[in-house]
This record gives sequence, structure tokens and C-alpha cells, in this order.
Amino acid sequence: MIDCIFCKIVKKDVPSEILRENEDAVIFKDIRPSAPIHYLIVPKKHIVSVKEVTREDEALLGRLVHMAKEAADTLSLTGYKLVFNVGKDGGQIIDHLHLHLLGGWK
Ligand code: 5GP
Ligand code: ZN
Repeated sequence: MIDCIFCKIVKKDVPSEILRENEDAVIFKDIRPSAPIHYLIVPKKHIVSVKEVTREDEALLGRLVHMAKEAADTLSLTGYKLVFNVGKDGGQIIDHLHLHLLGGWK
């Protein structure tokens, strides 16, 4: 997707503060954090939102959650929120599926 900012970040065409990367996804810091610690888990595959997820993506979504859990452990978060905003009416601004990892309140 030529004009997708998250595809550009995944390809390193746009810089970001990357915490972790594997064959499925990149985890990087949110540029406008909504919590003391705010990362985005972004799959390398361009999927617009949870609305566009197919059965073929089931395992990938599981792996994104597992990556979020590992990142939370690395960051020593004792509790956190994992959030998918879905569609414009669900507060989604970037049309490339991503999982928010929010924490650090204590
Ligand atoms: P959404 O509302 O789509 O679920 O969340 C998109 C998130 O991406 C927002 O929290 C926003 O701050 C973050 N974001 C938007 N553009 C960029 C960017 O260029 N770099 C980074 N690191 N985060 C971004
Ligand atoms: Zn994309």
C-alpha cells in the first residue's frame, strides 16, 4: 500500500522507535502516546482493520497478542491494556490494522 504510513514504517522508509520485530510484525512507540507507555504492534501484512480479517489471518492475530504479551514482559508492565480500534466509528485513524499496548500507570 503505497500511501500507508504503517507499511512505510514496517519497511523502514519512515523512522520509528522500534522495540521488537519478527517475521510477522514490528512493535514501535506511538508518536502521540495516550499512556505513559504506548506501543503499537503492527503486522507486516497490510490488513485494513479487524473488519477485513479472514480465517487465514486467525493465527497471525494470535501471534500479535503473544508479541504484545512478550513486549509487556520486557517493559516490566504489571498490567496493561490491549486495544484494537476498529473502523472510523471505532476511533481508528490509520487504516492498517494495529494493536495498542498501553500501560505504565503504576
Ligand atoms: P488508531 O486511532 O488508528 O487506532 O491509532 C493510530 C495511532 O498511530 C495513534 O495513536 C497515533 O498517535 C499513531 N501514529 C500515527 N502516525 C504515526 C507515525 O507516523 N508514527 C508513529 N510512531 N505513530 C503514529
Ligand atoms: Zn499498510
